[in-house]
Amino acid sequence: MKKGNLFVVSGPSGAGKGTICAAYMNKHPEAFLSVSATTREPREGEIEGVHYHFIGEDEFKDRLSRGGFLEHTVYCGHYYGTPSDAAMEALESGRDVILEIESDGAMQVRSHYPEGVFIFVCPPSMEALEARLRGRGTEPDEVIAQRLEKAVQELGRAHKYNYLLLNDDVEAAVRRLEAIIDAERCYMPRNIGFVNDFIK
Ligand code: 5GP
Repeated sequence: MKKGNLFVVSGPSGAGKGTICAAYMNKHPEAFLSVSATTREPREGEIEGVHYHFIGEDEFKDRLSRGGFLEHTVYCGHYYGTPSDAAMEALESGRDVILEIESDGAMQVRSHYPEGVFIFVCPPSMEALEARLRGRGTEPDEVIAQRLEKAVQELGRAHKYNYLLLNDDVEAAVRRLEAIIDAERCYMPRNIGFVNDFIK
C-alpha cells in the first residue's frame, strides 16, 4: 500500500490556517487532520477531541517523555503537540495527513520527516493579521501583542517552506491547498513504486 503524504500547514496565529484546513477537510474527508494536544484552556465553542485534546501540564510532560509527540512547542505559555500514533497510522494506511501547527513545530517535523510538504499560510498584510486577531475577540490585548511578535518571527522562517499559501480569500486559499496536495500526489519521486510495478 502506498503511504499517504504529510502536509504541514503553518504560519502565524490568525493567518487563517484553521479555517482553510477545516474547509479542506469538509471537501476531502478522506484526508486526516491531526488533532493536537494542548495545555491551554478551551475557548468557547471548542470541543474536546475535535479542536484539541485539552490535557494538563503533567500529562503533557508525561506523554512527551514517552515519545508520544511527533513535535511539540511552548506557545505563549502553553504546550502544544502532535500525537504521533494517530498521524503515523493514518500515513501508513495511505491517507494524506495534515498538521496545522506553528513554525517551531513545523521545523522539527522537517528535520526528521523531510519528505513532508511544508506550506506557509500568510495573510495579505500585517494589518490584516492584526485585524483578524482582534476580530476573533478571544484574546486580551497583551496576548494579541505576543502573537503579533511571534508572527514576525514566523515570517522570518517562511523561506524554509515549500509553498506560500496566500490567504487573501478563504475559497481561493482552499483551491490553492487542493492544487498543492494534488500536485504533490503527482510528483514523480513519490510515484517511482507505481512506475516500477507498471513496467513489471
Ligand atoms: P491556538 O491557541 O490559537 O489554538 O494555537 C496557537 C498556535 O499553536 C497556532 O499557530 C496553532 O496552529 C499552533 N498549534 C496548534 N497545535 C499545535 C501543535 O500540535 N504543535 C505546534 N507546534 N503548534 C500547534
